[in-house]
Amino acid sequence: MIDHTYAEAVDAHEWLKHLRSLIMCAQCGKPIERLEMQQDLFSLATVFTAYCHGEMEDTVLNHADVAGAIISPGIAFREIKIKVPA
Ligand SMILES: [Zn+2]
Repeated sequence: MIDHTYAEAVDAHEWLKHLRSLIMCAQCGKPIERLEMQQDLFSLATVFTAYCHGEMEDTVLNHADVAGAIISPGIAFREIKIKVPA
C-alpha cells in the first residue's frame, strides 16, 4: 500500500527546496539559506518565511493567491535596513 501522506510530504519538501533555490537574497546576492512554509488554519493564508544572513522575512499569500499561484523566481530582503547617508 502506498502511503500517500508520506509521498505528499516528500513532494512538498522537494518543492520547498526547489522554491528556495529560486529566491535570491538581495543582501547576499545568492539564494536564501532556508525557506519555511506554514498554513494559518484560521485564515487559510500561507506564510513563507525566508531565512538568510541571520534575518527572516515573511511573505503572506492568502488562500486565493495560493490556489492559482505560479511560482516564479523572487527576491527576498529587498529592503535595505542600513541606509548610507546621501
Ligand atoms: Zn542573505
